[in-house]
Amino acid sequence: MARHQGGSVAVPPPTVRPIRKVLIANRGEIALRVVRACQELGISSVAVYSDADAQAPHVREADEAVWIGPAAASESYLKGDHLIEVARAVGADAIHPGYGFLSEREWFARAVRDAGLIWIGPPAEAIAAMGSKTAARTLAIAAGTPVVPGTTEALRDAADATAVAARFGYPVLLKAAAGGGGKGMRVVREPGEIAAALASAQREAKNAFGDDAVYVEKYIEGPRHVEIQILADQYGNCIALGERECSIQRRHQKMIEEAPSVAVSPDLRKRMGDAAVAAARAAGYVNAGTCEFLLAKNGEFYFLEMNTRIQVEHPVTELVMGVDLVQWQLRIAAGEALPFTEAPAPRGWAIECRITSEDPANGFLPSTGRIAYLHIPSGPGVRWDGGIEVGSVVGLSYDPLLAKLIVFAPTRDAAIARMERALQELVIDGVETSREFHLRVLADAEFRRGEIDIQWLESRLPALLATAPPAETVHVAAIAAALIADRERRSPAATGVAARVASGARDARSTESDWARTARLDARRGL
Ligand code: ADP
Repeated sequence: MARHQGGSVAVPPPTVRPIRKVLIANRGEIALRVVRACQELGISSVAVYSDADAQAPHVREADEAVWIGPAAASESYLKGDHLIEVARAVGADAIHPGYGFLSEREWFARAVRDAGLIWIGPPAEAIAAMGSKTAARTLAIAAGTPVVPGTTEALRDAADATAVAARFGYPVLLKAAAGGGGKGMRVVREPGEIAAALASAQREAKNAFGDDAVYVEKYIEGPRHVEIQILADQYGNCIALGERECSIQRRHQKMIEEAPSVAVSPDLRKRMGDAAVAAARAAGYVNAGTCEFLLAKNGEFYFLEMNTRIQVEHPVTELVMGVDLVQWQLRIAAGEALPFTEAPAPRGWAIECRITSEDPANGFLPSTGRIAYLHIPSGPGVRWDGGIEVGSVVGLSYDPLLAKLIVFAPTRDAAIARMERALQELVIDGVETSREFHLRVLADAEFRRGEIDIQWLESRLPALLATAPPAETVHVAAIAAALIADRERRSPAATGVAARVASGARDARSTESDWARTARLDARRGL
C-alpha cells in the first residue's frame, strides 16, 4: 500500500479505469440524481429496488433495475454482499452508494474494492480514519485543523469526567465516540449533573452503536453549523469548494441550507477551506466529502467531523460554484484529475428547503399516504431534486425526505423571494409535508436578517407555528375553494371534490390545506 498525499493514512495507489456501468445502491431523490449524472456522462445506470419501490421514479429512469428484497432496508438496501453480487451479475464496473444506507460503512467500501469493482467514494481507509469522532479529532489535531476544546480519550468514570470537565469549564458536552444522528450526546451545565449524564450517554451509545466510549467537548453556546465541501482527486489535488450554512436544524436534522453563509467573509472562507483541506489530506481523502465545523459567535471555528460521502445539501454548492459534484464523483473514481487547483469564488446565492413527509403542526410526525396530486415548481432559478411522482406511496420504511427544492438568485434577498414563490407554486396532495413550514421560516424577520444559529429554529418553533400563514394565500385559497364547490354543484360528476375543498377552506383559516392549494392552482389556471 502506498502512502498518499503526505497524509498519515495509507491508501492504495490510483486506479484509472473507465466506468461504463454504475450500480446505484440507494433509492429516492439521490438515486435519481446519480442516474441523471450517469446519463449526462454517457454511463449506463442500474437501479436497485425493494418491494416498496417497484414503481419508483429512480427505477424507471435508470437503464436497468434489479429487485433486491422486501421493503425493510435491513433486507434490501443494507444487504451489502447481495448488492455486490447484483453489481457483478449485471456487469457493472462501479457502485455509487449515495448517502445514508451503506455509504459510510468502511467494510462495504472495502468489499466493493475487493470484488474488483470501483467504489464511488473515498477509500475505505479514509472512511475508517474519519469513522469515529475521537479518531477524526486526533487526525484533525495532527493536521493543525482546530477542533472543539476537549479530549480524545474515553472517560473512565464519573470522577474522571468531573476532573476533565473542570479542566475545560462548564458547560461541557459528553459525546459518544461512535456517535451519529445526535445520539449519545448530553449537555452538562454543572458538576452535580455529570454522573447521571455520563451514565445515560454511555447507555444510549451502547444501544445505538454497540460502543459506550464517551468523551468530553467544551459546549459552544449558539454557534452556526458551517460546513466545507471538499473535492479530492487520486493525484493529491484537493480543493475546498466554499461553505454551506446549515444552522436551520431541528433535533440535529437540517431543514434549510444555503450557500454562501452570511457569516463567512472571503478571508474566513479561505481559512476554513484550508483547515478542511488539511484534515482531508491527513485522512488520505479522495472524492467528494464534507468537513463540518461549528462557527462560534466570536468568529472562531472548530472541526466537528467529516462526512465521507455526498451530502443531501450538495446542490447549493453546485449552484454557487458552477460545479457538478456528482459527475465529479464519477470522474474522480474513474481516475480523472481535477482541472482546478484554486477554488472559484461563490457566485450568487442558493437556498435549499428539504420537503419532507412530516407534519409540522403535529410535532413533525411522519405522514404516510399516496401522492394524489403533484405540481412541481419551475421558472427561473428553480431546481427540484425529487424522488416522488403522482401515485408514489410514502410509507414509514425510509427517510421522510421526498424532495429538495433549491433556488438560485443573484443575492440572498432575491433567493428568499424566489424560494417563497417556488414554495407557493408547489402542491403535494396526499401526505402532509414541510412545505408551509418553510414559508413560515422564510417570512421570519430574524431569518431574513441571517441572524441564526443551531439553536434558533428550536427556540423559535412555538412562535413560528403560532403565526398565521401568509394572508394572501389563505384569501386566494378560500375563493378558489368556493369557486370549485360552485362548479361541482353544477357538475356533480366531480365526486367528492366539494367536500374536500370545503374542508380545505376550513383548514385555510389556520393553515392552507393541500386541497385548498390544489383549488388555488386550479383557480389560477382559470378552471
Ligand atoms: P452527530 O454525528 O451525532 O450528528 P455532531 O458532532 O455532528 O454529532 O453534532 C451534532 C450537532 O450537535 C451539531 O450539528 C451541533 O448542532 C451540536 N454540537 C456538536 N458539538 C457541539 C459542541 N461542542 N458545542 C455545541 N454544540 C455542539
